[in-house]
Amino acid sequence: MPDAADLLSRYHGVVSRVEQAVADAGRPPGAVRLVAIGKTHGAERMVPLLQAGQRLFGENRVQEAEAKWPALKAICPDVQLHLIGPLQTNKLRQAVALFDVIETLDRPRLAEALAAEYARGGRRPSCLVEVNIGGEPQKAGVPPDQADGFIEECRNRWGLPVIGLMCIPPEDRDPVPYFRSLAEMAARHGLPELSMGMSGDFPAAVAAGATMVRVGTAIFGTRFTS
Ligand SMILES: *Cc1c(COP(=O)(O)O)cnc(C)c1O
Repeated sequence: MPDAADLLSRYHGVVSRVEQAVADAGRPPGAVRLVAIGKTHGAERMVPLLQAGQRLFGENRVQEAEAKWPALKAICPDVQLHLIGPLQTNKLRQAVALFDVIETLDRPRLAEALAAEYARGGRRPSCLVEVNIGGEPQKAGVPPDQADGFIEECRNRWGLPVIGLMCIPPEDRDPVPYFRSLAEMAARHGLPELSMGMSGDFPAAVAAGATMVRVGTAIFGTRFTS
């Protein structure tokens, strides 16, 4: 299967580029985890990565993840799934049942709804607060000037298991100042996890302190839908 061979060589290439970036930054081996973003790609394209030992994956749509992952998780129970796309409150119950980490906690109404869902006594996926680090009008995430208050509210008012921050910097600008600013915000709150860096900028994110990079295209190739 030539697709699987290409996929694996791209995957191993990304793994070594992450390791190289970690070494270049003088950080300890294993300081950064690779979250493979499988969105739009079918379950059969996840299999070669699972066979290669990749266990951490991200999806941006609850419905797509529900169609793809339960069967794969049955084969590979130690898979960890991250939700990296917007979470609507009407999909919240399904998301909590499937995902291990919700990276897109971005508004008070969602925090309240998650807290209510967690209070039912089932699973409690860890959360990352998504910060709209460039303050872009059309982008998801809590605005930077409200982030400190929102993080406090999620932890203290709603008791949510917030473990870190996530961002997507503005597309057309140098991402480094945005990565640094997210890292400072996380440090201010004593939050250990920083999800930042995608196919085009993950080495810079690793240099700025990322603990997870979310890489899709550089592993799976170009997506033909969003
Ligand atoms: C699609 C997506 C990624 C991966 O982007 P690539 O450029 O394909 O690596 C990372 N983070 C989020 C939130 C995404 O939606």
